[in-house]
Amino acid sequence: MVAETRAGNGVGASLLRKEDARHLAGRGQFVSDLKVPGTIEVAFLRSPHANARIKSISVPPEAQGHVFTAADLPRVQPIRIATNAPGAKSPLWPPLATDRVRYVGDAIAACLAPTRGEAEDLAAEIIVEYEVLEATAHDWLADEFARGTWAIHRPGWYEHHHAAMRRPEGRLLLAGSDLANGWSGFIDGAIESGLRAGAWAAATA
Ligand SMILES: Cc1cc2nc3c(=O)[nH]c(=O)nc-3n(C[C@H](O)[C@H](O)[C@H](O)COP(=O)(O)OP(=O)(O)OC[C@H]3O[C@@H](n4cnc5c(N)ncnc54)[C@H](O)[C@@H]3O)c2cc1C
Repeated sequence: MVAETRAGNGVGASLLRKEDARHLAGRGQFVSDLKVPGTIEVAFLRSPHANARIKSISVPPEAQGHVFTAADLPRVQPIRIATNAPGAKSPLWPPLATDRVRYVGDAIAACLAPTRGEAEDLAAEIIVEYEVLEATAHDWLADEFARGTWAIHRPGWYEHHHAAMRRPEGRLLLAGSDLANGWSGFIDGAIESGLRAGAWAAATA
C-alpha cells in the first residue's frame, strides 16, 4: 500500500496499523468469536424491499418467546435523527419496523437462540406479508457515465500508478475519491482527496 502519512487526527489522516500481522496469520479475534457463558445470539429478520407496508407478521407458535417484533417491545422508543441542517427533516426511526419498511435490510424482528444458526432458522420461519410500494432507484450498471458502482482499482494500481496520479503537474492536481490515500472509492476518500487538493491549491495560489 501507499506509504504516505499525514499528521493529525480525523478524515484523511493515516493511522499506524497494528493489526495486520495477526489478521494475515488468521489470529484475528472478532466480537462473534468471543464466547461469554450465558450469552445468547440474535439474528434479525430484515426487509427484502426498499419500500413496503407490513400487512402482517406471522410467528410460528414454537418460536413465540424467542422472536420479538416492535409490537412486543412497546417501551422501546424510536430514535429521532437530529440535524441542524437547514430544511432537513428529523424523522423518527424505530429500531424495529412497525407498519412500514423503508429500505432493504430494515430490521423487522429480533430472533434469539443459543446459537447463531438456530437464531437464523427462527428468522427464516417468520412470514411477513408486504404491500410493496414504489421505490426510486437508479441502475448504475446501465448508466453510461458510471458503468458500475464505486471504483475498485485493478491489481497493480497502487504499486505502479497511484503515486504518479496524485503528483501535481505544474498547476494541475487531480482529485477525487479514486485517488485518495485511504478509503479510495468511498465518500471518506472523496473528502480526504478534496481536503488535500484544497490545501494544495491554497498553498500554491
Ligand atoms: C451506486 C453507488 C453506491 C455507492 N455507495 C457508497 C457508500 O455506501 N458509501 C460510500 O462511502 N461511498 C459509496 N459510493 C462511492 C461514492 O459515491 C464515491 O466514491 C464519491 O461520490 C466520489 O466522490 P468524488 O467527489 O471523488 O466524485 P463524484 O462524486 O463522482 O463527483 C465528480 C463530479 O464531477 C462532475 N464532473 C465530471 N466531469 C466533469 C466535467 N468535465 N466538468 C464539470 N464537472 C464534471 C460530475 O458530474 C460529478 O458531480 C457509491 C457509489 C455508487 C456509484
